[in-house]
Amino acid sequence: MHDLSVAELALGLRAKHFSSTELTRHSLARINTLDTHYNSFITVDETGALAAAAQADARLANGDTSPLLGIPLAHKDIFCTEGLRTSCGSKMLDNFIPPYDATVTRRLREAGTVLLGKTNMDEFAMGSSNETSFYGAAQNPWNTQRVPGGSSGGSAAAVAARLAPLATGTDTGGSIRQPAAFCGITGLKPTYGRVSRLGMIAYASSLDQGGPMARSAEDCALLLNVMAGFDPLDSTSSERPTEDYSAGLEKPLAGLRIGLPREFFGAGLEANTHTRIRDALALLEQQGATLVDINLPHTELSIPTYYIIAPAEASTNLSRYDGVRYGHRCEAPRDLHDLYTRSRQEGFGDEVKRRILVGTYALSAGYYDAYYRKAQQVRRLIRQDFLDAFTKVDIIAGPTTPGPAFGIGAKTSDPLAMYLEDVYTLAVNLAGLPAMSVPAGHVEGLPVGLQLIGQHFAEARLLNVAHQLQQASDWHLQAPPEANV
Ligand code: GLN
Repeated sequence: MHDLSVAELALGLRAKHFSSTELTRHSLARINTLDTHYNSFITVDETGALAAAAQADARLANGDTSPLLGIPLAHKDIFCTEGLRTSCGSKMLDNFIPPYDATVTRRLREAGTVLLGKTNMDEFAMGSSNETSFYGAAQNPWNTQRVPGGSSGGSAAAVAARLAPLATGTDTGGSIRQPAAFCGITGLKPTYGRVSRLGMIAYASSLDQGGPMARSAEDCALLLNVMAGFDPLDSTSSERPTEDYSAGLEKPLAGLRIGLPREFFGAGLEANTHTRIRDALALLEQQGATLVDINLPHTELSIPTYYIIAPAEASTNLSRYDGVRYGHRCEAPRDLHDLYTRSRQEGFGDEVKRRILVGTYALSAGYYDAYYRKAQQVRRLIRQDFLDAFTKVDIIAGPTTPGPAFGIGAKTSDPLAMYLEDVYTLAVNLAGLPAMSVPAGHVEGLPVGLQLIGQHFAEARLLNVAHQLQQASDWHLQAPPEANV
């Protein structure tokens, strides 16, 4: 069962080949036996999952044909789930049980999906390797000595290891695409504003965006169909109507112009990864696409720009964790000041503290113009690069990451080396664009991801291109050797 696509699972459920309860038990059993190797879940909700599955079976028996009815899934532990612990990978929220559902959670619950549990992630979504999680690093199912990527590494590992057919993720600077690439799955970061941020614990509010993670573009489309849409409770949510993201998947690629940014194929790109990306692009070319060299001249500024803006917003967002209103509170505080400082000192990990310090500094009175304002100006230039490119091409393609998954511990002592991993993903968030990572083969047994970047609200087009690539290749069907330890 765990190798079936979501569409196949839905057919099987409707044809009564198996029930949602059987499917859910199968997923839970796999999590129990295999996740000791991957640590991809922080919380498994067996009771809740079986109750949801029983409800789904009742709806199925009544002839309900909702596309995701009875399908198991996992949520990144950043989405609030009513009554179920939501830790955001942090000691600070280790005991936080939300009184309400995120809009994404609610929509998926109403669609009849079965929530298996909450997946591991970098603390407050800050990281590119999952190693900053309070709950310990998750491991890459292709090689457990390697990171699964971050920050949605638990979701990517769970989907890759066939523990769940679908998972949600969030992407502030690459956190859906980079772990998708490292784990050999398909992930989509939608246009900023396409998916509601209500109840998605905030990291950097002008960049954060939730999106689907699955094995194929077809499955991502099914998940996006439920996740996307206007939310009156999120003031940055777009009122633009959604589309049926599954409808255009079969469109032929003839005439498609794909821009290849020279800056994405430079010295930083590892040679074997480069070859895999070129092979995938050649397949798209065979299907009628034209490859066009383009420039995104401000690409190299995306790392310094992002690493000012994201920490600045994070320092503001994380000020609410003070030991009073939410989360961890220190023992026996001497006075209010001691309560604040010790609760934060104990509750946050090193990377989160680093970001709060950088962000607070960048926003401070004497430095605001030099750092934060300047970063916002460069952000505008980065966005303009893309808008200019999209007058010449329909989509942009390149690698998702400079190379395949790196070793656990390889970059933990060097934050700058870790930040460099994000070189191809950050600009997309700064510009608010949609982008995907799609499996494109392997380098030494580790998956490589092709990144596809679209114009604002061109999710359907990206899914179409990814699906066509997946019709012509089988990289997305390859599974990691089970419990490869
Ligand atoms: N690696 C980036 C960071 O640490 C991106 C994280 C994300 O997208 N949530 O900020």
